[in-house]
Amino acid sequence: MSRVYNFSAGPAVLPEDVLRECADEMLDYRGCGMSVMEMSHRSKMYQQIIDEAEADLRNLMAIPDNYKVLFLQGGASQQFTAVPMNLCALPGANGKADYILTGMWAKKAYQEAARFIDAQAVASSADKTFSYIPDCSDLPIREDADYVYICENNTIYGTVYHELPNTKGKILVSDVSSMFLSQPHDVEKYGVIYGGVQKNVGPAGLVISVIREDLIPEGAVDGCPTMLNWRTQADAGSMYNTPNCWAIYVCGKVFKWLLNKGGLAEMAKLNQAKAKVLYDFLDESDLFKGTVRAEDRSLMNVPFVTGDPELDAQFVKESQAAGLENLKGHRSVGGMRASIYNAMPIEGVETLVAFMKDFEAKH
Ligand SMILES: *Cc1c(COP(=O)(O)O)cnc(C)c1O
Repeated sequence: MSRVYNFSAGPAVLPEDVLRECADEMLDYRGCGMSVMEMSHRSKMYQQIIDEAEADLRNLMAIPDNYKVLFLQGGASQQFTAVPMNLCALPGANGKADYILTGMWAKKAYQEAARFIDAQAVASSADKTFSYIPDCSDLPIREDADYVYICENNTIYGTVYHELPNTKGKILVSDVSSMFLSQPHDVEKYGVIYGGVQKNVGPAGLVISVIREDLIPEGAVDGCPTMLNWRTQADAGSMYNTPNCWAIYVCGKVFKWLLNKGGLAEMAKLNQAKAKVLYDFLDESDLFKGTVRAEDRSLMNVPFVTGDPELDAQFVKESQAAGLENLKGHRSVGGMRASIYNAMPIEGVETLVAFMKDFEAKH
């Protein structure tokens, strides 16, 4: 068997220990004679899996009791719709929300919200290809906005908010997909914090939304499909219908893996050390350049270029032949991107930098 270093932005690398455990339990999960994929989601055995996953996640993120944890389908993209439909249906809501545009995912969320509510962009970094995070200390947030929305780590452009925006007292909603569980978050600062898990946590097809209880509508909402109403899944323990049993099971294992590693503060340290190896090299290289303003650099997604698209293409090809996979940048920006999520060992980043040095010496 030979495993590559996989720098994919998502679906992405998972911890080897977790994959091995899944393999060991594949045919016979803990003596029940079947795999997790084959068991009823209404069984005692499965209830234990989802309960343990939630308890471990609460422990990892220090989620306060007045927040619900929902395991949902439809990916992060479905929350783009669910966020306005739920938050603008609360008593006293005005049907208005302010969005900060820092990349493609923020923009998609904004465009989707604009189909249902009065959504307004209050800041954007589109003028410089989303290569920075705008100053969010004093934005023109509307007095009657129901919430302020951000995409906290921009997977495609490689930026991250090192400081949360001043929402002027409005509820903060954050898409943390590509930084989910890479560092601690102070959950109480958010009304809703959610992430598609296929970037930094688990297999595709699951989005986890952590939502303050008072932001979940009390009952059915006119015009909001049952499945998009957070109340539906909150009251059903995320099992109104069949959940993504397999993804929840694998995520549960990743939560335990993270707890065993010392939790999110420890992961943050490891991720900082890992990213430093790559950024330090980018800063000193004559050939490769990072594309993001230094103070806004993501620890998870690192885009870089040579400045010559043909040389970029050659780099991607040669790196792949050397066992460094998925370094091609997103089709909307070109160049390269190394996603160095929790499960990427520092050796992977060191191997990448060694390869880049070698490539630079040859060109
Ligand atoms: C990948 C990604 C999404 C979309 O996720 P899906 O689960 O495919 O809908 C949304 N937001 C961010 C930040 C992402 O990285």
